[in-house]
Amino acid sequence: MNDWQLRFDQRIMRSIGMPLAKLEHGSGAWVTDAAGTTYLDFLAGIAVNSLGHAHPVFVEAVTAQASKLAHVSNYFTTEPALELAERLVRLAGAGPDGRAWFGNSGAEANEAAFKLARLNNSGGARTRVIALVDAFHGRTMGSLALTGKPHMRAPFEPMAGGVEHIPATIEALEASIDDAVAAVFVEPIQGEAGVVELPPGFLEAARELTLRHGALLVIDEIQTGAGRTGEWFGFQHAGITPDAITVAKGIGGGMPIGGLITFGRASGLYQKGHHGSTFGGNPLATAVANAVLGEIERAGLVDNAAVRGPQLRRRIEAIGSPLVEGTRGRGLLVGVALSAPVAGDVVAHAMRHGLIVNAANDTTIRIAPPLIIGDAEIDEFETRFTRALADAHPY
Ligand SMILES: *Cc1c(COP(=O)(O)O)cnc(C)c1O
Repeated sequence: MNDWQLRFDQRIMRSIGMPLAKLEHGSGAWVTDAAGTTYLDFLAGIAVNSLGHAHPVFVEAVTAQASKLAHVSNYFTTEPALELAERLVRLAGAGPDGRAWFGNSGAEANEAAFKLARLNNSGGARTRVIALVDAFHGRTMGSLALTGKPHMRAPFEPMAGGVEHIPATIEALEASIDDAVAAVFVEPIQGEAGVVELPPGFLEAARELTLRHGALLVIDEIQTGAGRTGEWFGFQHAGITPDAITVAKGIGGGMPIGGLITFGRASGLYQKGHHGSTFGGNPLATAVANAVLGEIERAGLVDNAAVRGPQLRRRIEAIGSPLVEGTRGRGLLVGVALSAPVAGDVVAHAMRHGLIVNAANDTTIRIAPPLIIGDAEIDEFETRFTRALADAHPY
């Protein structure tokens, strides 16, 4: 181990593995580590750095707001918080009743959504919450209960009650939903599970079934939101209207922020005293999110994601590596299906060739570049990824 690895090993909680590098500074889609090696960053902090690193709009927003007012608590409001609520309600199409709550992370956004589900209790008659097998909704106790990965939950049992995980099929949802279900939680694309898409018609069926049974349809847009899939939010591809969405990751472009957006009737569930967060919605975080979302709009980055995603996938498939079985996903949330369980090796070789990608699982590479990428970054990616695949080829 080198010096930073020793320090990490000694002083950072052992809840995560050894990092791939110690990063120091970045610019656009590029990031440089402490040893001076520069990488093409096609993970963007797991779909977080929407504008890439050190974008002038991000830097200016942080600087301007920090020099004015950074934090005020929930006893006060500020213009950036009001503006962000209005902006997210508009972008999500949450309508005249749309409302926003702000926290600091994705897990907290899903905690707020879980509590929203508990409020939809019809006088105690609704005790069930449905989520999907392999779902990822976060690591705090409530969001972990929603997460459909038994190995993540096992050390922390017992879980918050009432959550059941069903396979992501219309038949399974039809078979399990009834009038005791308070909410159904769905990711439009399961990013952590390996960029796995829902079966065709699933969201439409979930909307119809939840309406029929009085359950809330909650869409977790934490990874798929902020334009990543080529729409502002992933559910918009299906043309449905959910009861609530949760957001985080890309809306802050690197500033920690999360939120719950409610639609229609669901906006009436939370009452005074039901929830709160000291940092949630503070002017620094909300000002930066406004600037990031404003720049995504101004620069047409949602459309860029829609165009660059298919371009990137065609280029990956055209490499012709026997390791690549195919690609999945939507917009700039891309999964590369491997023909052998060597995703970890591909990531390590990619690092050696100056490229950051992610192993979502043994057989899937997840790619989530900043939304600003163009031809130059895709050319660089292809060169480096081709080398990584060749080095990882096990045959
Ligand atoms: C990352 C993620 C979360 C958790 O967000 P944190 O900010 O890490 O708490 C929840 N749901 C989905 C779909 C995610 O991708």
